[in-house]
Amino acid sequence: MRNLNIINQLDDYRLAGFFVLERNLFMNNFIDGHTILIGLMAYPIRHSMSPTMHNAAFQKLNLNFVYLAFDVDAEHLSDGVKAIRTLEMRGSNVSMPNKQKIIPYLDKLDITSELNQAVNTVVNDNGVLTGYTTDGIGFINDLKSKGHTVSDKTILVAGAGGAGTPIAIQSALDGASKVIIVNQHDQHWDNAKRNVEIINQKTNSHAELFDLSDTEKFKRSLQVCDIYCDATGVGMGKLSDVSLVNNPAWFKKDMVVFDTVYAPRETKLMKIAKQAGVKHVYNGLGMMIEQGAAAFKLWTGQDMPIDFVKQQLL
Ligand code: NAD
Repeated sequence: MRNLNIINQLDDYRLAGFFVLERNLFMNNFIDGHTILIGLMAYPIRHSMSPTMHNAAFQKLNLNFVYLAFDVDAEHLSDGVKAIRTLEMRGSNVSMPNKQKIIPYLDKLDITSELNQAVNTVVNDNGVLTGYTTDGIGFINDLKSKGHTVSDKTILVAGAGGAGTPIAIQSALDGASKVIIVNQHDQHWDNAKRNVEIINQKTNSHAELFDLSDTEKFKRSLQVCDIYCDATGVGMGKLSDVSLVNNPAWFKKDMVVFDTVYAPRETKLMKIAKQAGVKHVYNGLGMMIEQGAAAFKLWTGQDMPIDFVKQQLL
């Protein structure tokens, strides 16, 4: 039993990025009394790729930072935020279930967090904690790196949760002429309505919402949009053989089809879009790296070495 516990513990340490730390310690002598700590507070979180991504980037740029994942649930979140202040951490990433719950514990929100009413990145400037949301920026920057912009485009976003909300709002902030949101009538419906109101009130973009059950509207919206982004998570896990769009004839060849899912790397939606001859079909891996790169820049002031990081994650 004891051996089993040790094995489990080692596995936890491996998942938490311990071996990256170990490499820093023994090969590069990085960790010292000045090392700056960045956290990731969520529950469960040991599966995250973020520690591998950020520690690889710190090491590549010789930055004396270390990034660690901490299992922090909503009940312990206030202690987690206190730790950012007490330990003089430079900041933290935040994921579910803490993205909204952390807001009352912070001193300020930037415009991205304000509009999204969610935080995925905290920056500690001499005790002043500011919340940011970098997921939408990650989406936009990944599209840019592939030669696309949202400016003056029509984007259709499926989903209005943790991914769909910042994608829709950031697209509007970045100049999309129209943001069409499609959602099923579930617990996220009210948030989808809120996203439409925010976009119409606070940006120059026009937003509208329709119910996923309206298949005619879905088909017509795909015909008029330049970018279709599925931010529902359909296409992964138990739904890996499912796509919201099943008819290749609904796609246009010159559009962008983007799935926020990155495991699997090619979802059912992506397969159908490719079958339809769509030229620009992407998974969410680039977005995941770019949202991390935006947080990295906020903490360190430096550009993440994205190509190097991609090699570490592939
Ligand atoms: P969420 O639970 O907050 O929101 C899910 C959204 O999809 C909701 O609007 C919900 O109504 C809709 N939805 C759920 N099941 C559906 C179904 N069967 N049919 C139609 N609509 C459905 O989830 P989230 O945090 O927004 O994550 C969504 C996906 O995006 C996940 O696969 C997640 O891994 C991925 N994601 C990727 C990145 C990235 O950087 N690439 C970042 C965040 C999330």
